[in-house]
Amino acid sequence: MGERKGTNKYYPPDFNPEKHGSLNRYHNSHPLRERARKLSQGILIIRFEMPYNIWCDGCKNHIGMGVRYNAEKKKVGNYYTTPIYRFRMKCHLCINYIEMQTDPANCDYVIVSGAQRKEERWDMEDNEQVLTTEHEKKQKLETDAMFRLEHGEADRGTLRKALPTLSHIQEAQSAWKDDFALNSLLRRKFREKKKAIQEEEERDQALQAKASLSIPLVPETEDDRRLAALLKFHTLDSYEDKQKLKRTEIISRSWFPAAPGACTHSKASSVLRKLSQQSRRALPTSSPISVGDLGIVRRNQTREAPESPQDATETPKAGELRAP
Ligand SMILES: [Zn+2]
Repeated sequence: MGERKGTNKYYPPDFNPEKHGSLNRYHNSHPLRERARKLSQGILIIRFEMPYNIWCDGCKNHIGMGVRYNAEKKKVGNYYTTPIYRFRMKCHLCINYIEMQTDPANCDYVIVSGAQRKEERWDMEDNEQVLTTEHEKKQKLETDAMFRLEHGEADRGTLRKALPTLSHIQEAQSAWKDDFALNSLLRRKFREKKKAIQEEEERDQALQAKASLSIPLVPETEDDRRLAALLKFHTLDSYEDKQKLKRTEIISRSWFPAAPGACTHSKASSVLRKLSQQSRRALPTSSPISVGDLGIVRRNQTREAPESPQDATETPKAGELRAP
């Protein structure tokens, strides 16, 4: 607000331009008013902005970059012809005073007292960047032979330290050097795989066509193979064998029709005989139609059928009827 006082253009009645010259001199004040109150000590009060993040030593609080203070600015020295200014300001959170000054050599501000800098500067050496050779060093390398020798020795030492790592990397690279062979190996492997897949697909398609299946086939497993082997249907005889067997049976058969009641021919008839004997044993009467137990109806029985149509099925009954 101090500046605004200077903009007051009121000239009082006793103002004499020849005597006073200006309003400032009439008021006996500095054009910068309050800001210049310590001018006798060489201090001017200015607005100072924090150039980077700091921690206050008094309250240990973090003060961010850009916080503004009313600071006392004072010239403390020179860097060549550039003046070095020092700024003194009170922390806005405590009673501690922070002092900073310019550093023209590095185009930076340095903290003199009352705070600590939060280090956020990029350090090339810390980050393992290749450092540029300084101008002074370059000059020395060109003129000082002894320095050049020592410098070269240090460089060779660095090389010796890095050499094992480098050779390791080279060995690792050489393993991949013959890329043609590696590539062909890989391609051959893929080709074999592809061929196997194709063969399997063809086999599947053939099976599907044979069984007229439209469902997709899952890959065959060892269990499936074992189960299929157990389920496999084995015919004992071939077609020719079966034919031969039938033929011999026909040949060995009697040419004449069997006598009624007497079953003499073929394997089946022998079985029937056995069964009829059993039924005869069970029944008190020996009826010729006892074979009807088996549900087999014969010609001689059919002739008697009109008497009782259930003859064939219910033999015991028929036998009883006939007995009297
Ligand atoms: Zn503080």
